Amino acid sequence: MTGKTAWPANVLFRFLTIVGATVDIAPQPTAALPDRHAAVCRGCDASYPDANSASHNVKGWAQAHSETCRALPRPTA
Ligand SMILES: [Zn+2]
Repeated sequence: MTGKTAWPANVLFRFLTIVGATVDIAPQPTAALPDRHAAVCRGCDASYPDANSASHNVKGWAQAHSETCRALPRPTA
C-alpha cells in the first residue's frame, strides 16, 4: 500500500478508500454540541458534519463513502 500519510492526533477513526485515500473522523465541537464529530474525505473533500453528535452516524457515512469514493488526494510534496 502506498500513500501512507500521517495520522493527525485528533483523528479518532480512519477509513481507507479503495484508491488509498482516507476518510477521517475527528472531534469538531461547537459551543452547543461539545461532543460533535465530523467526517471528511481526504480524497474528494466531501464532509459529513454530525449535528446530533451521534458518532455512529458519522462512522456509517465514513464507511459508506470510503467504499465508493474513487478520488485521490492531491499529492503533498
Ligand atoms: Zn471522497
